[in-house]
Order: sequence, then structure tokens, then C-alpha cells
Amino acid sequence: MEVASPVMIKNLLEGKVAIITGGASGIGEATARLFAIEGARMVVIADIQDELGKSVASSIGAHHCTYVHCDVSDENQVKSMVESTVQNYGHLDIMFSNAGITKPNQTLLELDLSLMDHLFAINVRGMAACVKYAGRAMVEGAKGGSIVCTASVSGKIGIDAGLQDYVMSKSAVVGLVRTACCELGKYGIRVNCVSPGAVATPLMMETFGIKSKESAEEAFSCDNSLIGTVLKVNHVADAVLFLASDQSAFVTGHDLVVDGGMLCRAGSNK
Ligand code: NAD
Repeated sequence: MEVASPVMIKNLLEGKVAIITGGASGIGEATARLFAIEGARMVVIADIQDELGKSVASSIGAHHCTYVHCDVSDENQVKSMVESTVQNYGHLDIMFSNAGITKPNQTLLELDLSLMDHLFAINVRGMAACVKYAGRAMVEGAKGGSIVCTASVSGKIGIDAGLQDYVMSKSAVVGLVRTACCELGKYGIRVNCVSPGAVATPLMMETFGIKSKESAEEAFSCDNSLIGTVLKVNHVADAVLFLASDQSAFVTGHDLVVDGGMLCRAGSNK
């Protein structure tokens, strides 16, 4: 796992308590490592991959990171995960609601609606539950806070590759952020989302049946980035750090696209 260079550390999250759902792998893991480097007092990784999550937390260090089992599709698990975080660490400053899945489905005409229900239970209802309980904890803590959700560039363009329900779910995340920022702004709580382009993580590699990270990076990025570099999880983590920290103190309701300009290129038809 690549980490930020020590000269870049600014302690942007000094003393903060953060929850990261889906923090056992990929974008969430990179963000957990970056939050700890940036001085977070405690990063709570909430995931369903218990062995992996525990091992990531212990490699970051028990004083700055811990693992909690939480299936975000289960409202009670989200509620108790947020409540135990506040109980154990005093308050909650940051919620990075990031857990998500893809489940290749059929074409829209053949859509399996039960598969779609399962995907929406995690990608949309799970995100809403995280915003709900993190929002409540932040309102009760009366110190404001920052909520960041993971959407995707795929929620902004049409894709007919069996990811139709995923596309719909990621558009819904942007809607969730827009409505949540209106409701929570008066409590000093900012709500934003990050929309990554394709990045080589287990989720994407599994979706497209790609075995190695190198092949995935080649497949995802060669034609897409305007700046000639491959999108890495650390690029996304840097954007999340900006939205989570006071560096973005006047930014709320924003959808920060991290795609090396791919959407602009799509708009110009190359
Ligand atoms: P990943 O598979 O590496 O990480 C996803 C994590 O979410 C895993 O650790 C997984 O165990 C966890 N998770 C899955 N279901 C869960 C549940 N019910 N409760 C709690 N945790 C659960 O994939 P990633 O690419 O890092 O995905 C993170 C987020 O980024 C997702 O929301 C995904 O849709 C989004 N995203 C990914 C890409 C990409 O190209 N990789 C692009 C845009 C958006």
C-alpha cells in the first residue's frame, strides 16, 4: 500500500474521530491509513471482512485505528457501530460512508430486481443509514462534523455493461448528499461526496474478471485520463481528506470528481 510522503503530513485531522465504512480494502483502506497519518485520534474501520479489517487496523496501530464488524445494510448494526464509537471515543467528527458493491446484473429489460434490492440495500440504504446515525451523533455532540460519501463517475454517464443498477445507486448517493447537506447545514455539519473514476481495487477487478492489479490499471486508465497517469486509491483518499478536514470548511453539497478528466473527455467525444 502506498502512503503519503512524510514531508506532506500537515496533521489536518489532529484529534479527530472518524468512521470509515468499507475500510478493510481499496479506497477505504487507503483513506484509513491517510487519516491516521494526518493525526486522527481514532479511525474506526467498519466492514464485514473481519480478518482483513482487523489486520489493516493492527498494521495502522491500535492507538489510532480499530476494527468493528458492521454490515451497513443492517440499520441496527450501523446504529450500534456509531453509538459505540461515540461511547468509546467521546464524539464523532468524520463519517466516510464508503462501503459499496457491484453485482453484475442483466440488461435493464431483463433486470433481476431482487439482485437490485440487495445492491441498493448496501449502496443506497446503507449510505443513508450511515448519514442518519452519524448526523444524529454529530448533532448531539454539537461540534459540527464532516460526512463524505462515495459516489462514482458511473452515476453520471450511461453504462450498458450489466451495471445499470450500480449506476442508479451511485446517482442516488449524489441525491442523498444534496438533501443531507440542506438538512444538516444548520448544525455545522457538512456533507459531500467523492466520485472516483475506475481504480484497481478488489471490487472493480472482480466486476470485470481481471486477475492482476497491473492489468486492471492498464484496462481502466490507458485511454481515460487527460493527465497521463493512472488513478490510484491514494488519489481518492487525498480528495476524501480534503472534504473531511477543515481545509474544505466552506464546502458542502459538493460532488468532487476524481477521474483525471475522464468525464470531460467523454463529453467532448474524444
Ligand atoms: P473494495 O472492494 O476494495 O472495498 C469495498 C469494501 O466495502 C470492502 O472492504 C467490503 O468488504 C466492504 N463492504 C461490502 N459490503 C459491505 C457491507 N454490507 N457492509 C460493510 N462493508 C461492506 O472496493 P473499492 O473500489 O475500494 O470500493 C469502495 C467504494 O468506492 C464503493 O462504494 C465503490 O462503489 C466506490 N467506487 C469504486 C470505484 C472503483 O473503480 N474501484 C469507482 C467509483 C466508486
